[in-house]
Amino acid sequence: MYSRQEQKPLDQESIKKANRDRILDLLHKNRVLTKQEASQITDISFPTVSSNIDFLVESGFAEEAGMANSTGGRKPVIYRFLPNARYSFGINIEPGAIRIVRVNLDIDIIDDFYFPYKKDQKDLNLNNLILSAIENIIERNSINADNILGVGIAALGSVNPRHQILEISPTLRVKNVSFAPISWTLGVPVYLENEANAAALAELKLGIAKGMQNLIYISITRGVGAGMVIGGELYTGAHNRAGELGHQVIYPKGRTCNCGKQGCWEQYVSEQMLLQLYINKRNGRETSLKDFFNHLSYQDKIAVSVWEEYLEHLSLGIHNIISVYDPHYIVIGGTIAAYPEHLLPPLMKKVFGDSSLYIKNDTFILTSQLGKDSSVLGAALLPVRSLLSFG
Ligand SMILES: [Zn+2]
Repeated sequence: MYSRQEQKPLDQESIKKANRDRILDLLHKNRVLTKQEASQITDISFPTVSSNIDFLVESGFAEEAGMANSTGGRKPVIYRFLPNARYSFGINIEPGAIRIVRVNLDIDIIDDFYFPYKKDQKDLNLNNLILSAIENIIERNSINADNILGVGIAALGSVNPRHQILEISPTLRVKNVSFAPISWTLGVPVYLENEANAAALAELKLGIAKGMQNLIYISITRGVGAGMVIGGELYTGAHNRAGELGHQVIYPKGRTCNCGKQGCWEQYVSEQMLLQLYINKRNGRETSLKDFFNHLSYQDKIAVSVWEEYLEHLSLGIHNIISVYDPHYIVIGGTIAAYPEHLLPPLMKKVFGDSSLYIKNDTFILTSQLGKDSSVLGAALLPVRSLLSFG
């Protein structure tokens, strides 16, 4: 689904578009280019390159930026890529809060809003919340509608990207939410992806997994999900439900999960559960994850025992994942990824220590580079990927 060029016979129009896409992608990668260089690198004829670059200048993607040295004859004009030529909106829907960012073509965050909503209200309308936030940003910055590539949405749960429907989200407690009204109202395409898949895409194109061919991204937030990258592309499954690894059962008859089953991994390793375990052991005293890791670094006894228990649960699921997928890399994202010194050494020991089947350096466990931004950036990337490859 993420392939930019579909395998079908090429007619004149699609050849023209494919050439333009390649030249824009090259300009994005190289930042500055002359027509001569673009023609040499792409092996597209000079007149075709020339008219395409002229078109990119007219469309605002490039501008003239001086002259290059001549290798004989006239000095060639240098063209510079303009990242603010187009914008995309990325939305991440969390339980009780929505984050919305506006990014440019380099996926630099230009606007960033985070606002709470009442998650159990009967007339909850996610479309209206998202639309009014976007319209606010558009109005305040006088953004030309033609410069908006689209809106990408990441949400916890099972999604139907083709029809922009969030089919079921036990964590958000919603069913069959269609985001098509956003597309009708704004007149731009809307893309929908599972939160962990969006985060995996961001890590693959912009973060620690750049250039990796095969990995599992584990998103540990208020829910737990996974995004799979196989052969450098996201694998989303036959029904777009691949990677629901938060609902693998690690304890039969264990804690009741939002999905209706018992003993799901999510009920033991989400950020909420880590915090809850810590609060319970401190006799209900309120705290935060930051406070928890602070206590852990001072070897506080309660924090140490909570962390030990948490890592035990975490390693059970990761062990299963390695058994099934045998990936080169496992990337862990979410707030706990900001504490790799506490997370990685003991986790590696637990995952690889007691198994004769797995060897430490076969699979590397890493922490996310984009941290809490990965899902929202992945969402913002969805519309931009129709234009640029980030390869
Ligand atoms: Zn579950």
